[in-house]
Amino acid sequence: MLEAKNEELERFIYTVSHDLKSPLVTIRGFVGLLEKDIAAGDAERVARDLERIQGATERMDRLLNDLVRLSRVGRQLDLSGAVALGELAREAVVRVARPIRERGVDVRIAEALPGVVGDRQQLLEVLHNLLGNAVKFMGEQGEPRVEIGHRPDGDRVVCTVRDNGIGIDARHHDRIFGLFERLDGQREGTGIGLALVKRIVELHGGEVWVESEGVGSGSTFCFSLLRGDGA
Ligand code: ADP
Repeated sequence: MLEAKNEELERFIYTVSHDLKSPLVTIRGFVGLLEKDIAAGDAERVARDLERIQGATERMDRLLNDLVRLSRVGRQLDLSGAVALGELAREAVVRVARPIRERGVDVRIAEALPGVVGDRQQLLEVLHNLLGNAVKFMGEQGEPRVEIGHRPDGDRVVCTVRDNGIGIDARHHDRIFGLFERLDGQREGTGIGLALVKRIVELHGGEVWVESEGVGSGSTFCFSLLRGDGA
């Protein structure tokens, strides 16, 4: 157990330092070019170099902010109450309202979503991230649809966010939950969303995973929580 934790930490530090280094490499490269372009008196290239340096510092800033966010999750956790999933789902829809409207996504929330034990704010963050991703990774789908649902699992409940978007190859089903891991660098984002989701769900004693038949077949993100009646 401890060994597994150490290995996980080692891997985590390795990837994080690698990702934080990449803007530095960019900066170093463009500082070199900048010197040359200043010497050559090429104002246009100087402006471009400065822009690239600026962009890299902004990226570094975003990555560091994300890292801090991830580290703080455990600190604010309140696991004393029950939360109504249906209410959370509706709130998540409000938070993602704009992209949903712009992409024309039909979002459905299953009836009679149960209550779960957990921290309201953090679980809202989970649904917000999963719904946001479902909309973001819709691809060319002509009838974009997302469904927030659930299935019982003993004293637990498995919450599901199903989309009919681009889908995910089985090879990547674990990897995408790692910090800064992204399959496609084209869209906005740093790759923190699913790492946050995983950390929050695990601090609740639950598990999170993705089910997808592969590229083009949509994805269903699932997470398990203790059922919490009285929400
Ligand atoms: P970000 O959204 O910032 O890229 P996330 O950690 O939220 O980072 O997601 C990691 C990666 O997992 C995404 O870049 C994308 O490649 C993949 N992914 C996440 N959600 C979905 C989804 N619903 N459908 C297809 N791919 C997804």
